[in-house]
Amino acid sequence: MFLRDRPQLIINIHAIIMIIMFSVVFTAGRSSGETFSKNKKIVVLDPGHGGHDNGVRGPEGIMEKAVTLSLARRIVAELEDDFKVVLTRTDDYGMKIFERTAAANHLKADLFISLHTGGSFLHKTSGISIFYFDEMSNTDQENRPALSKTDKNTPTPIAWHTIQIKHKKTSRTLAETIREHLRGQTGPLKKPVQTAPLMVLEGADMPAVLIEIGYLTNPAEEKKLADPDYLSDLAEDIRNGIIDFFNKDPGA
Ligand SMILES: [Zn+2]
Repeated sequence: MFLRDRPQLIINIHAIIMIIMFSVVFTAGRSSGETFSKNKKIVVLDPGHGGHDNGVRGPEGIMEKAVTLSLARRIVAELEDDFKVVLTRTDDYGMKIFERTAAANHLKADLFISLHTGGSFLHKTSGISIFYFDEMSNTDQENRPALSKTDKNTPTPIAWHTIQIKHKKTSRTLAETIREHLRGQTGPLKKPVQTAPLMVLEGADMPAVLIEIGYLTNPAEEKKLADPDYLSDLAEDIRNGIIDFFNKDPGA
């Protein structure tokens, strides 16, 4: 996952990227076999990493970029009858972080979900974590200010990081609703929803969450994440969470 460190991406960069992204998104939409129905909610799934960026690599060599794409394809299969589902990347190639949300904004998507795995130096670290964007991480022990809004030397007509803030409440609902539907994690293993100043969410102009679907650095979890049946179950849980979210908040 990506914690923000350079907050001043501004809206005109955003506009340029949207134009560049148009062809990419259009191709991705067609590849799912979907037509552009105006009645369907648009869900954008973002398989983390890709290309030279492998993401986290597990002890047996399973790579985050492959796991996230595999899960995303399964979620597409679960959703495509009822939703227009678009992937930010449909194969093993790299993308810049801000291109991912630009794709969702261009489509005026109703939801954006970025998929990642966790990585830790501690092999026993495990579990699924669901994040929504906030300027402060709720696990930030140093209580540091996460944004350099006070940097008066940088002109910021409209700072990109302000876009997701207005969706904070619905993003939180989305995160909590998906969490409710995760069957594989129960009791104390089921982590509370978390906040973090995530770059990949900050520019999304719709409810948006990032799901870390387990720790590839944990040998037991790496084994699970390499199991197609496990990924299919997870895709089904996430599908159920998305449907439940729209039922709770049909205007989202
Ligand atoms: Zn990642």
